[in-house]
Parts: sequence; structure tokens; C-alpha cells
Amino acid sequence: MKEQKQRIFDRIDQNADAIRQRSRRLFDTPELGYREFETGRLIQDWLTDWGVAWTPVSYTGLLVTLGAGEPVVAVVADMDGLPQKAGAGRIHSCGHSLQVSAALALIEALKDEPLKGTVKVIFTPAEEMIEWDYRQRLIAQGLVQYPSGKQDMIAKGVFDHVDCVLSCHASGEPNCRFDVGSTLKGFVILKAVYRGLGAHAGAAPFAGKNALHAALVAQTAIAFLKDRFDPDDGVNVQPVLSETAGTVNIVPDHAVVETYVRAKREGALLAAADLVENCLKKCGEAMDVETEVIRRPGFLPLSQSREINRLVKENMLLLCREGDIRENLVSGASGDVGDLGALLPTIQFGFTGVSGRFHGDDFTVTDEENACLCPPKILAGTVLDLLARPVSGREGFAARKAEYLRTWLGM
Ligand SMILES: [Zn+2]
Ligand SMILES: [Zn+2]
Repeated sequence: MKEQKQRIFDRIDQNADAIRQRSRRLFDTPELGYREFETGRLIQDWLTDWGVAWTPVSYTGLLVTLGAGEPVVAVVADMDGLPQKAGAGRIHSCGHSLQVSAALALIEALKDEPLKGTVKVIFTPAEEMIEWDYRQRLIAQGLVQYPSGKQDMIAKGVFDHVDCVLSCHASGEPNCRFDVGSTLKGFVILKAVYRGLGAHAGAAPFAGKNALHAALVAQTAIAFLKDRFDPDDGVNVQPVLSETAGTVNIVPDHAVVETYVRAKREGALLAAADLVENCLKKCGEAMDVETEVIRRPGFLPLSQSREINRLVKENMLLLCREGDIRENLVSGASGDVGDLGALLPTIQFGFTGVSGRFHGDDFTVTDEENACLCPPKILAGTVLDLLARPVSGREGFAARKAEYLRTWLGM
């Protein structure tokens, strides 16, 4: 196995120029979630060149299966980019192009290898939870069932016979090359719509019902509520007044407050979301305006498989020194890989080599060695380890999935 691993690492080095070029091409093709049509075409062209078959999944996603039999290791790669802050453009400011690049390099390196099991490489669309109305339209048309790619794939059974899931993500952590075992927070989405009654603000304010006042009372209540959250749970609530109506001489009859509630653990997340939802609802009622609160699932907090992460770290150490690796970082960000982590042994390691702000217009790839060539090696090395020595943890998946679909996605 050591020889096979070295052979694969050497192959990735031999393919380095092509990997870098593909990575740049992907970075220059940013598309929003469930709109990754050109990215999909690029992936299909490269797979065709290699004689590798794929199946379409979850509208714009693709699934490649290498090898056969048990165990089954899945590698997932996010496909979507983000809107640019300036102008109407798009940018890969979360580095998802690097994940696609790593997954392609992995396929290229493994496609002719004898494998003691199955490797499913899955290009997953629509990780960023944006463009809600567009995704609702796709759901209404039956093109997808859920707003995020991995949620949709879970529901469609893509992971039903998978033993474990590997992923990687660009990291902005300074003074290191990789991170392993980092957490991601989960989040619940809340939106309160307050409908009041417009009236002359000077002559007859008593004839109106001020929706903006209800929104402000709710935001104040949420600010006081923050005392209730245990700092260890990492609860984060940042409500914004996303819509309001009225002019200075008309009582505002419409206001909308939207917020994510984030937390490190599912239990704390749901409890905090209940409290915040209650404030949004009861404050509107107290101010005598019609109140509607919409609650939707975001992503679950990511808890990683320690067993797999031990292997990930061993493979990182083939490429770097101990001091180049950060362990167990606590992130305030979220990802739909968290949903997979709640169902199957899952990991997501981080790699540096990017600069600028994540989700900002200045995000760029600065170290292609670390960001393009190392991640496929770490993935390949860990895949081989997992095929040789499968992990436990898949047991009970069907029951967990049924519960997940019912209580989390069915929230
Ligand atoms: Zn992102
Ligand atoms: Zn991301």
C-alpha cells in the first residue's frame, strides 16, 4: 500500500501543470448554486478525455464511481461560487473551485488503479444557502427536493450505501498549511413578517398599527435574550431589518426581520432557535400587528470523525511538518457537510494557499502547490487507508436518515 500511495502521489506531481490549469479555469468559471452548468460541462469534458463515466445527480451535480464492492468511500466537492459584492458578477470567493480541482485530480490519479472497494467522487452543487426564491422554484418544478445540494443528495439516496465521507475546504488560517478536526456551526433560518395598518402619522396615528415598532421591539427582546445563551454553545444571533414600509407621514404597515441562529451543537441550536422564534412572534402579537414567523433548516453543526481524522493527519504528515497543521479549530462558519456528519462518519480538512476575504471580492489563490496539489494527495492517501481498513459508524444510518428527513429537513 505504501508503494501504491507513493505511485499516486507521483502521478499527481506528474499531472501538476494540468491540475493547475484546470484549477484556474474553474476559478474563472464561478456560478451560483444549482446554476453550475458550465462547471458541469468542464467536468464532463475532462472525464470524457479520461474515459471516465459519470451520472448526473441533483440537477447540476455529478457522480463518478471508481472501483467496486465494499467498503464505499465518498469524496464530496462543492461546485458553487458567490455573487460579487461590487457589480453583478460572480466569484469563487469560498474556494469551491479548489475542491472541484482536487476531486478531478483524485479521479485522474485513481482511475487506473486497482481499488479494494468503491470510491464515489461526488460534485455537489448549491452549498451556499442563497437565492431562496430561485431554489423554491426548482423545488416546485420537481428539479430538486431540497435547497442545498448535499441535502438533496441525502434525500435522493446518493449516500445510502456509503460508509464514510471525505471533504476539504480552503482555509484562511494564518501560519499553517492544513487544519484537521475543525468544527462548523449549525444554523436555523428565521424570518418574521409584521403586517400592520397604515394611517396618517400626524392626524391619526391611533388609527394605524405600526409594523416597524413590532420589528424593533422584537430585535430589542432578542438583544436581551442573548444573556440566556451559554458561551460554550457559541450561539450567534444577528437579526436584520430586511424590509420596512412607510414614509415619515405614514405609519409603517410592513416590516420584516430576518436572522440566522447559529450554534455549535444541535440541541443548543434548536433551543436557541425556539427562544428567538418566540421573541419574534410574541413581540409582534404584543404590539397588535399580524405576525407570521417562518422557520427553515439551515445546516447542522459539523462533528467530525476522529478515527478518519487520525488518518487524514498521517497523510498530511507525508507532505508537511507537525507544526504546519492546526487541529480542532472552532469556526463560526457553516456548511451542508454538517448534515452529512450527522448521518455518517465524515471529515472536512482545511488547506491554506488563498488570500483575501472569504466571500469577499479580493479572494484569490496564492499558493497552488498547497491549494491545488496537496489536497488531492491527502484525499487519495486517506481513501486508500480507508479502503484497506474501513471505519465503523455507518450502522443505524437508515434510521438516522429517516429522522433527519422528518425532523430537520421537515422542520
Ligand atoms: Zn462559503
Ligand atoms: Zn465554502
